[in-house]
Amino acid sequence: MILDKFSLKGKVAVVTGSNTGLGQGICRAFAEAGAYVAGVSRRPSTETAQMLGADFHNIIADLSSSAVADGIIAQTVSRFGRVDILVNNAGLIKRCDSLDFSEEDWDSVLNVNLKTAFFLSQSAAKQFIKQGGGGKIISIASMLSYQGGVRVPSYTASKSAIRGVTMTLANEWARYGINVNAIAPGYMATNNTEALRQDEERSADILSRIPAGRWGTPEDLEGAAVFLASSASDYVNGFTLAVDGGWLGR
Ligand code: NAP
Repeated sequence: MILDKFSLKGKVAVVTGSNTGLGQGICRAFAEAGAYVAGVSRRPSTETAQMLGADFHNIIADLSSSAVADGIIAQTVSRFGRVDILVNNAGLIKRCDSLDFSEEDWDSVLNVNLKTAFFLSQSAAKQFIKQGGGGKIISIASMLSYQGGVRVPSYTASKSAIRGVTMTLANEWARYGINVNAIAPGYMATNNTEALRQDEERSADILSRIPAGRWGTPEDLEGAAVFLASSASDYVNGFTLAVDGGWLGR
């Protein structure tokens, strides 16, 4: 049955940034689809833990250092016995004119959005290969994987790079049955975009360009996340799927 292919029953997923926003939505969707979820956050994911109950294990880690990658995968194996899915969702954005952009704002964004995402993917892939039977890696990219943006040079660099690295890893790891893909959300109503949404002029500007005529929500991402985590996407490799209310088509 086709719907069985979307089931995550008994699968074990690692999701970074599990305390809020898109990461919390992905944790909820995975649990609904039958998965156990190891959620990674730098402060306790209390609300997510309440939503998911015993299917959820919170790993506290600061992803600004990639040194935490192996420990996150090891802790997940120790709690749930295996890992089948990794979602690199945690991320941050720094806004400033490029003429004044600091090295600190460059490094902090690249470290979490790109470097730790890469080393977590590497660590998960080693575990998938050890287990046999493949695995799924999904990174949360952005419209700025395709476009330049304004005043966000480190964010654009990280999200353009994650789209490229997604293709590299898919090329290398498809032979192990590992699918590496990404999701590029459009403008979603989360903490990440609070400043933008509070700027009336920018917000109206953005809304007027979204064919769907509204900001996205964490729920809007859930279908794509479950699809790319499930066997329904077994022949999808190295692609970055836009979930953007039509933004990229304009
Ligand atoms: P959010 O609500 O700000 O969530 C970001 C998550 O990343 C939070 O859980 C945050 O933890 C975590 N994080 C940041 N730095 C971390 C660190 N050093 N260690 C551990 N966790 C860290 O934003 P969101 O919109 O859900 O963003 C999720 C992903 O989607 C990000 O990669 C973002 O770039 C991407 N995205 C969002 C949009 C959008 O419109 N919202 C559009 C395109 C792409 P804290 O809560 O502790 O800060």
